[in-house]
This record gives sequence, structure tokens and C-alpha cells, in this order.
Amino acid sequence: MLGKLKEDVLKANIKLKESGLVILTWGNVSGIDRENNLVVIKPSGIDYDSIKVDHMVVVDIDGKVVEGSLSPSSDIPTHLEIYRNFPCVEGIVHTHSTYATAWAQAGRSIPAMGTTHADHFYGDIPCTRKLTPEEIENEYELNTGKVIIETFRKINASSMPGVIVNDHGPFTWGKNADDAVLNAIILEEVAKMAILTHSIAGNDIIDKYLLDKHYSRKHGHEAYYGQKKEKDHE
Ligand SMILES: [Zn+2]
Repeated sequence: MLGKLKEDVLKANIKLKESGLVILTWGNVSGIDRENNLVVIKPSGIDYDSIKVDHMVVVDIDGKVVEGSLSPSSDIPTHLEIYRNFPCVEGIVHTHSTYATAWAQAGRSIPAMGTTHADHFYGDIPCTRKLTPEEIENEYELNTGKVIIETFRKINASSMPGVIVNDHGPFTWGKNADDAVLNAIILEEVAKMAILTHSIAGNDIIDKYLLDKHYSRKHGHEAYYGQKKEKDHE
């Protein structure tokens, strides 16, 4: 079942590990089959070096395991809440990458300070509010997803493919699992650049017209950057 998606999600998990964004088992990647409403995700607590395609867990959109002998990543309720609410999303990544997590622990959105950021994220990468003690006590992972959705009430998830969860870390998404990994790598890099820029110049954010120019030349119907079929990534 879902052989191609399982391979894609496995490859994306390995790419995430090789990117240096995760140590130990602190990360996970999932992908969704929108036709059948089934999600493939990495199993919980399995070392990246020993992970195989048969270890991938298939769950339905409500979190019931449909195939696989291992338990899915404990963050699966967060992933499912994002899939249920953002139809444009077909792959999700969660990490505790250092620089993005530093912004999360500070409870601060990652400010758009230059064109590297503007090429991929249209504006500041938002930080969620803190969860309440009740939200942490009951259905913590589902409530993590809900606070992400709440944060995006006035933000478009397709032009802002990531978020940082307060006191926790980043989630990114994309049109497939591989794309979500790419966005996790870019988010970490712009988080690092923003910390360095902030240390030199304080809160020196990018001008709105430059943000608009860089985002729109890579995304949307007027995009012109790169070769036609790969313009979203180069
Ligand atoms: Zn986490």
C-alpha cells in the first residue's frame, strides 16, 4: 500500500537527517495521499540509520493506524491537524533545529531581514502563542496543531510554508515530503542569518517593496526566476 509515498517519505527522512537539522531521533517527516486521505509517517523513536521502507506507518486522517507494525511518530496528531486545515500541504517536517528553536524558545517570530528569507517566506515566520496548562495536559500534540492553525487565521499557508511553535521548535510544509524538507533547511538558515543580523544591527527588517519583489519573482503566476519547471526552487 502506498509504496511510492512510503519511499518518498523514507527518502525525505534520510535527507532531513543528512541535512544536519536533526540529531538523535528529534525530527519527523510525513506525506499525504490526498486521493485516499492517508498519511505516511516515520515510526516513533526509530534511529534514522536503521530505518527502512517497511517501517513507515500509514494512518488515516483521524490517526488510526491502517498499516505498519510500529507506532507512528508521537507528533502525528499535529501533522494531521495541519493536513486537515491546509489543503495545499502534502508534506510536513518537524525538527528541533538549533537556530529556529532559539527563536521559538524566545517566543519571537523570525523577522524577514533580507532577500534569502523573502525568496521563500512572504513575511515574518510566525511564532505561535504559548499553550495553556490545560492544552498541554490534554491532547498536547493535537493542541500544538490547533495553535498553529490559529496562528494562520490571517496568514496564507502556501506563501508562508512554516511556523515556529512557542518554546518548542519549527514545523514546515510543502507540496510533498521532499519540498517540506527543503523548507526546513531554508527556515533554519534564515533563522541563523536573522540572529546574526540582529546581533549586528538590531531589528533591521527588509523593506516591504524588496520583500514583495523577491517573493513574487519566484512564486505565483508572475514568477520568472530560474528554469521554467524548477523556478520554485532555484
Ligand atoms: Zn518537537
